[in-house]
Amino acid sequence: MKADRREYAQNTRGFLPPDEGDVLYEAASRLEVQGPLLEVGSYCGKSAVYLGTAAEEQGRILYALDHHRGSEENQAGWEHHEPDLIDSATGKLDTLPIFRRVIHDAGLEHVVVAIVGDSVNVAKHWETPLAFLFIDGGHGVQPARDDYSWWVPKVKQDGFLAIHDVFPDPKDGGRPPYECIYLPAMQSGNWVEEIAQGSLRILRRIS
Ligand code: MG
Repeated sequence: MKADRREYAQNTRGFLPPDEGDVLYEAASRLEVQGPLLEVGSYCGKSAVYLGTAAEEQGRILYALDHHRGSEENQAGWEHHEPDLIDSATGKLDTLPIFRRVIHDAGLEHVVVAIVGDSVNVAKHWETPLAFLFIDGGHGVQPARDDYSWWVPKVKQDGFLAIHDVFPDPKDGGRPPYECIYLPAMQSGNWVEEIAQGSLRILRRIS
C-alpha cells in the first residue's frame, strides 16, 4: 500500500487498528477469484479506505454497506458512542457525511460504492457472488447471526471472509462475532483460517 494512502487510512476516524488495516489490505490484494468486495459496517470509512485501495489496484469495486445510524454500541450511553455524530435535525446518529468525505478525500469515489440500508434488507435482494466479504456490522447476537446467515453464503469458492472483533476470550470483548460468525464458519467445514491479527480473522472458502 502506498505510504500516503496508508497514512491517510490510519488517520481516519474509526476503530480498526493500523496493523489490522494492513492485514485487511494485504488479504484483499491477493485474491485470486473474480468478483467484487463487500463490507458490512462501514461507519466512517476507515476499512473502506484499506479495502478500496486493494480494489482499485485490482480493477475491482468495493460495496460499502451501512445504514449509517450506528450499531448498538455506538448509541448514547454505550462504549463507542461519539456524540458529535448525531444529526441535530433528526436526533439520530449519521455517519454518512463523514464516510463520503473520507472516501472523497482518499480519491476512491470511483471504486467505493456506498449502499445505505439495513444489512438483511439488502442481502435478501443481493445476487452477485462476492470475492471478499468483511463483516464489521452490528455486534449483538441477532445482527451477527443475520450477517452470517445472509451474507456468508454469497462468498465464492476461494473467496475470503474477514471478520472483525473476534474475541475468543470474553474478557477481551463482546462474543457475538466469535460465537455467531467465526465459530459457525469454522465448524461448517467450508472455511480455513488464513490469518489472525488482533481481533481480525481472515478465512478462505474451501467448499
Ligand atoms: Mg470492528
